[in-house]
Amino acid sequence: MTDIACNELVELVTDYMEGTLAPAERARFDAHLSECPDCVEYVAQMHRTVVAVGLSAVELERTPAVTALLQVFRDWKRELATG
Ligand SMILES: [Zn+2]
Repeated sequence: MTDIACNELVELVTDYMEGTLAPAERARFDAHLSECPDCVEYVAQMHRTVVAVGLSAVELERTPAVTALLQVFRDWKRELATG
C-alpha cells in the first residue's frame, strides 16, 4: 500500500509546500502526482496562489476564501470518485 488518494493529497498539500512532509509521505505524494494530472493542476494552482498573495501555504489554508476553494475541490473529487 504505497499510493495515496486524491483527498489525502489535498490534506497533505500544505505540508508538501512547506517542505515538512516525512520522506516516505513525500515519496507517496510525488508518486500520486506522477499518475494524477488533476492533482498536479491542483498543486500548481495552490503554488500560484501562494506566490500571488505572498502567504505561506499554512497561512493560506487558514484564509476563508481558500478554505472554501479547498472544500470545492474536495467535493469535486468525491463526485469523481463516486461517479
Ligand atoms: Zn489525485
